[in-house]
Formats: sequence, C-alpha cells, structure tokens
Amino acid sequence: MTAVYNFNAGPSALPKEVLERAQTELTNFNGTGMSVMELSHRSKEYEAVHQNAIDLLKELYNIPDQYKVLFLQGGASLQFSMLPLQYLKEGKIGNYILTGSWSEKALKEAKLIGETAIGGSTKEGNYTSIPNVADLQFNDQDAYVHLTSNNTIYGTQWKDFPTISHAPLIADMSSDILSRPINIEQFGLIYAGAQKNLGPSGVTVAIIREDLLEENVDHVPTILRYQTHADSNSLYHTPPTFSIYMLNQVLTWVKEQGGVQAIEKRNEEKAKLIYDGIDESNGFYKGHAEQNARSLMNITFNLPTEDDNKKFLAKAKELGFVGLNGHRSVGGCRASTYNAVPLEACEALREYMDSFRLQN
Ligand code: PMP
Repeated sequence: MTAVYNFNAGPSALPKEVLERAQTELTNFNGTGMSVMELSHRSKEYEAVHQNAIDLLKELYNIPDQYKVLFLQGGASLQFSMLPLQYLKEGKIGNYILTGSWSEKALKEAKLIGETAIGGSTKEGNYTSIPNVADLQFNDQDAYVHLTSNNTIYGTQWKDFPTISHAPLIADMSSDILSRPINIEQFGLIYAGAQKNLGPSGVTVAIIREDLLEENVDHVPTILRYQTHADSNSLYHTPPTFSIYMLNQVLTWVKEQGGVQAIEKRNEEKAKLIYDGIDESNGFYKGHAEQNARSLMNITFNLPTEDDNKKFLAKAKELGFVGLNGHRSVGGCRASTYNAVPLEACEALREYMDSFRLQN
C-alpha cells in the first residue's frame, strides 16, 4: 500500500505506535486473557487504566490539585447543554464569545436554557480573526464566559486568553487540547471531545475547578451534573472503556514524546511548513485566517478559483492525502495537523503544494 497522509479534521490521525500497542494487547490485555473491552468497568485491571489516564493528564497538562478530571460521554455537543443547565440560572447571563460555528452552536443551546450575551464576535469579518482580549464585554451578572480556543472549521486559534475574576472562564478545547502548554488556572472549566488530540471518539474530557462542583444543581438530571461524575471518579455509569484505554495510550505517547512542550514545538514546525507554503506562493494559496490568529491545528486555505480547489483536492487524493477538503459549510481546503500527524505528512503536503502551484 502506498503511504496515506491523514489530515482528517476529527476523528483524525492517532499515533502509529499507539495503534500498534493496542493491536498487540487487543485479545489479551495485561495477562487477563481477554480484551480490555471485555473487562468489567469495576475490575481492578480496568480501574488501573482509568486512574492512570486521569493521573497522566494531570501530570502532562500541569493541572493543579483543585481541579478534577472527568470522563464524560455525549461529545463536546452535550457540553453545550450540560454547561448552561448547570450554571445558567435565573438572573444570570451566559456570556459567549463567537469565533466560529462551534461557538455559535454552544450559544444556541444556552439560549434554550437562559439569558445569554455575546461578549465579542468576529462573525462580521467571516471569522478570520480572534477578538482582542481588551475589547471583550463582560457583565456583572455573567454566570460564566465561554470561548472556543481553536476554531476547527475556520482555522483560527486564541493565542492569549482573557484573565477574568468576575465569573469562570469556560473553554471548548475540542480541537487543540494538549497541543500547547496552557495556564489551567485561568479557566473554571475546560472540555474537549477526545477525537482530535486525545484518542478515538466516545470520551469527552472535562477539567473542572472544584468550587464549580459545589453549585446547587438539584434541578439538573443526575447524569448531567458534573458533581455526579466527580463524586464517582467518572464511574457513575459504564464509561466508554475502550476509548479511555486508548486515551491512556495516547497520553503515554505524549509523555514519551517529551510532554506538551515538545509536542507544541513540533506542532509549530509542522504548521510553519504549510503556512510558509501559503505565504511563499505569491497569492496562489490564500489562507483564510489572519496571520496573528492562525491555528496550529487546522490550516485553512483556498486556491485562485473553485475549479483550482477541486483539481488540487482530486490530485491530492490520488497521491494519498486524506481529509484535505474544507468543512462542508465553508468549502476550500483544510489540513488538520493535530498532535499525532507526523512531520513527514506535513513535509509531503508542502512538497505537493509547491509542485501543484508550479504546474498550474
Ligand atoms: N467543538 C469543536 C471546537 C469541535 O471541533 C467539535 C467537533 N468537530 C465539536 C465542538 C463537536 O464535538 P462532538 O462531535 O464531540 O460533539
């Protein structure tokens, strides 16, 4: 088989070493004589995997003691509802900063539950940028301020986060969690579906400051309370055990790579290869994002005409590049260069971009 370069936006590439390790253990996990999928979620063997994943994430991401790591289900999309259900009470405002389609979706769900405000938005400029932190609008009644740290569809990313004290800052980090070091203490709650940087789909990771668990949530269905999952160490009900096993493998791999700082350095190197290909093309490739808002995870660009986009994508497919088409809502091209995408895939893409440009 010829090489396949996986640039899928999510679910997306997993480290080859992780897949191979999982394959080795598939039918006999840790001497149990069965797959990890077949173990009881209450067995000591599974519980060790579960706890190790929590501990490793805490270690790698420098998560302070006053935060809990939770494993939830329902994707980031369920968080769009779970969050306002919990915190958007009478007299309070859910403050949303809009930087793309996913923030809009988060806002839409909050509107079903309570009062909302838009504390900043770059919609008018077709989401090519991130608002200036100094221009954000806050309200005394804010229950929380919500932002999307990386905009998977438009290819923009926050570089500096606001430091606020009047309400917890909440971030959907689905498409850039663990791609760079962050100061967890700036946030009350971080959530992310696993299927981009952390593992396969099925598990959603939440990192929540303990004081946010103390809120009165008697009105919220039991399974939709963060408190429920925190009290049971995310074993309130059957967790997605195989996804968490894979998450644990991916975290182990991140540690082997030298941790989040080393991963960030490699992500910068990978993204630079492709952005340089855009910048050095004399306008043949046009990036969607403004330079200072460029995402290191999703690189979005267009060719001179729609026809060129089609030709570029068709030829790319022939050469083994997978997932380079832009999201169906915006078109164009997008290369998702998540943690597990190897440098060689980005080098191959850059080479292809250069040669396609010279031939067209
Ligand atoms: N937020 C962001 C930033 C995303 O990229 C996605 C998925 N692409 C979602 C939320 C929705 O995630 P899920 O499919 O896990 O519900």
